[in-house]
Amino acid sequence: MKVIVMGAGVTGVTAAWYLSKAGHEVTVLERNAGAARETSFGNGGQISVSHAEPWANPSAPFKMLKWLGKEDAPLLFRMRADPAQWLWGLHFLRECQASRSTHNMIQLVNLGTYSRQCLQSLRAETAIEYCHLTRGIIHYYTDPKELELALEPARIMREFGCDRQVISPEEVVRLEPAFAQSVKRLAGATYTSADESGDVHLFTTRLAALCEQRGVKFRYGVRIQRLHTAGARMTGVEIADENGAYTIASADAYVLSLGSFSRGIAATAGLSLQIYPVKGYSVTLPVLDPSRAPTASLTDDEFKLVFSRFGDRLRVAGTAEFNGYGMDLNTTRCEAIAQRTLDIFPGMSEPGLAQYWTGLRPATPSNVPYVGSSGVKGLYLNTGHGTLGWTHGCGSGQAIANIMDGRDPGCDFAFATAA
Ligand SMILES: Cc1cc2nc3c(=O)[nH]c(=O)nc-3n(C[C@H](O)[C@H](O)[C@H](O)COP(=O)(O)OP(=O)(O)OC[C@H]3O[C@@H](n4cnc5c(N)ncnc54)[C@H](O)[C@@H]3O)c2cc1C
Repeated sequence: MKVIVMGAGVTGVTAAWYLSKAGHEVTVLERNAGAARETSFGNGGQISVSHAEPWANPSAPFKMLKWLGKEDAPLLFRMRADPAQWLWGLHFLRECQASRSTHNMIQLVNLGTYSRQCLQSLRAETAIEYCHLTRGIIHYYTDPKELELALEPARIMREFGCDRQVISPEEVVRLEPAFAQSVKRLAGATYTSADESGDVHLFTTRLAALCEQRGVKFRYGVRIQRLHTAGARMTGVEIADENGAYTIASADAYVLSLGSFSRGIAATAGLSLQIYPVKGYSVTLPVLDPSRAPTASLTDDEFKLVFSRFGDRLRVAGTAEFNGYGMDLNTTRCEAIAQRTLDIFPGMSEPGLAQYWTGLRPATPSNVPYVGSSGVKGLYLNTGHGTLGWTHGCGSGQAIANIMDGRDPGCDFAFATAA
């Protein structure tokens, strides 16, 4: 089968890899000059299967109201004259019901567990190197009340098969000696030894190179304008490149992996995807004193930050702004991330050496991505991965390839059947 994959972020490239492995002739279309130049460039690096609580949960509406208008809130909703944002918000409220939230958490854990297995197999098969570490994730708390509130989600995650243990500050230091200077500030932590970390940009670009070795064609500098359909069947994709605008109609199947931009392109085929961009920031610091910088991946509960060590760099990411597609870099927010990092790990680096980045998470109201059929014949969805696209990348790519071949997807998950 001739397959066109739209988008060369982590979800598009993993789909291309598994489709090529299944024997298909794959072409990837991407507007940038290379793979992983947008959201899959500078994320937090966590493969966090065991931290799958969706944003939409029963306490979220109250917290969001409390945070409304607060510039330093971890989750900032800026109301815009944008019907797409309001509609997304209404869907989000529906997903906050306890029963929906539990259902969504199960989907995220199942897909995450499957995805980690796929990533590990891919690593064993290809020896791909992307600064990965398998030292688990420590989710640390500085506020005893917040630690208390975390006990129940940790218990639920254990019920779903994730080994999320509650540990003392002393155990935190034993696992991660870089906390030695800050141990007095810790109330405790949860620890999941099976979780991993790694640089998504390195992974995606190197996997794209491995795809090319298998014969996958990457067409960079190509802007997808719209999808063409006839009678609920895909007939082609209209693109623009240096030769002008024209339609490619030669493929048998198409995979939509355009991140936050999937909604607009899907709408041209009459599909209504609930995907809204949620902006986040990351800060990358060179490690000047390795004894003071963590190697285990971390989550800072108070500041809602995640930390991952990539060789001689430390990546710290966080914050969530619902504010449209704007990509302006709020340096005050980035400086606050760098400041918090050096506050917890003094002397590991210098604030002046920090590199700042911003990206748009392609978020669905439930946090559950669209993976599966679209309802338009020949068009498949692998998008809307929100906060967990790196965690779910390999599993989604393998599952969509299985689905397109009529095989069992390989994972117990609410796959899309129509959008
Ligand atoms: C601050 C931050 C921290 C994060 N931390 C983590 C983490 O620790 N763990 C985790 O699992 N996830 C994390 N994520 C989420 C993860 O990064 C995303 O879910 C993932 O990168 C999304 O990948 P994607 O392929 O769907 O989208 P993208 O990487 O955005 O890829 C989409 C591609 O489509 C292309 N494209 C779009 N429109 C067009 C068009 N019209 N024509 C041609 N090409 C087009 C884009 O150029 C882009 O290359 C984080 C995200 C952010 C922002």
